[in-house]
Amino acid sequence: MKVTENKIYNPEAECMDRAALRELQDRRLVETVNRVYNNVPLYRERMQAAGVKPEDIKGVDDLHLLPFTNKTDLRDEFPFGLLAAPKSEIVRIQGSSGTTGKPIVAGYTRNDVDVWTEMVARSLTAAGAGKDDIIQVTYGYGLFTGGLGAHQGASQVGAMVIPMSSGNTQRQLMMMHDLGATMLCCTPSYAIYLGESLKELGYDPKEFRLKSGCFGAEPWTEEMRKKLEGLFDINAYNIYGLTEIGGPGVAFECCAKNGMHINEDHVIAEIVDPETGEPLPYGESGELVFTTITKTGMPMIRYRTHDICVLDDSPCPCGRTHLRMGRITGRTDDMLIIRGVNVFPGQIESVLLRIPGVAPHYQLIVDRVNSTDRLEVQVELTDEMFSDTVADVEKLQHTITEQIKSVVGIAAKVKLVPPKAIPRSEGKSKRIIDNRDLTK
Ligand code: AMP
Ligand code: ZN
Repeated sequence: MKVTENKIYNPEAECMDRAALRELQDRRLVETVNRVYNNVPLYRERMQAAGVKPEDIKGVDDLHLLPFTNKTDLRDEFPFGLLAAPKSEIVRIQGSSGTTGKPIVAGYTRNDVDVWTEMVARSLTAAGAGKDDIIQVTYGYGLFTGGLGAHQGASQVGAMVIPMSSGNTQRQLMMMHDLGATMLCCTPSYAIYLGESLKELGYDPKEFRLKSGCFGAEPWTEEMRKKLEGLFDINAYNIYGLTEIGGPGVAFECCAKNGMHINEDHVIAEIVDPETGEPLPYGESGELVFTTITKTGMPMIRYRTHDICVLDDSPCPCGRTHLRMGRITGRTDDMLIIRGVNVFPGQIESVLLRIPGVAPHYQLIVDRVNSTDRLEVQVELTDEMFSDTVADVEKLQHTITEQIKSVVGIAAKVKLVPPKAIPRSEGKSKRIIDNRDLTK
């Protein structure tokens, strides 16, 4: 495997003495709390209800006094209710799946785009990127933060960017081969698929110049890393982020490949008990919570990611002093990530409720076939529809498939089943059957 040099994009920030970092966080947190209190009704009302005044927050030690924020708040305040800056200052909207049929959106000021770009530049540099690199961006471009995020970061380090966006495996490999891409940014499962397709399409892996890749947007494992590194003869690095906090680059792996450094000069991370919300010590597994401290468009206070992981404050051999987060080992909610796209059962439900002829009984069955996620949606027909003609039923199947594609953004196989075919449960119905083995 090609060795990755230990390059640091912004050593002053990334290797900052921890006491100085704490002072910086304290100052930035106080500024952020004042900004949201003065500009965002939801934060002001929540703080008032909790009996917390902005002057009570003097630094990170007081963070636990502040109320949490959730994805449902973004849904309820959709689209602009959480903005802390005038709309005229917002230069970008990015979005992600909401818990129902509507997406959630985040507004970014020029400052926020710059902060995000720097975070990705740090991530790519840690994976060895520099101005001599040719970076193929195979994350989707659009509302999803992956494509544009990686693109901006790659431009920032001065690399040559190939903005492929997702899909079209043959063309991806042809460009990677012919242009001599040295780095790849995409989801780990698609990267494995590309690697496996390479030989099938008659390429010799030795003809590729790829040396590393930044892979994220979905959970993956050490087994998958080994597989990926073998398929392409590269170093594979993990990169993590979420739209609400700023997109990819919130945290990223360094050459030690032992957890992702969190950009702590821009965000404060906590781990809390998902049940009680009580903060947990470093090293304990719990729900990751972020507070942004430099964003001005839509700052987030104690945002509950629903991602489960551990935080590690032990020193890292790379020289960076920022905390590291371990791999995401699960979720505290029912969100699925399918081919890098977040899917909530509520989104599927919202589609089905609008379509006559189907009952609101459904089940989502997820599998991974040849490294690619497959989603099957089993939907019950109503009694009336069940006795209709085959042509009518086929038409209905087509409508549901199209609607799911347009609302959820992924292609699913829709299987119509007879009335009462889906098992009923006494308590919470079992909507999801996830057969993927994430250990391989
Ligand atoms: P989005 O806002 O659509 O980019 O989705 C963000 C979510 O994707 C996170 O909350 C995680 O659940 C998941 N995610 C992003 N990067 C990673 C990663 N490297 N490992 C595991 N999950 C990830
Ligand atoms: Zn490190």
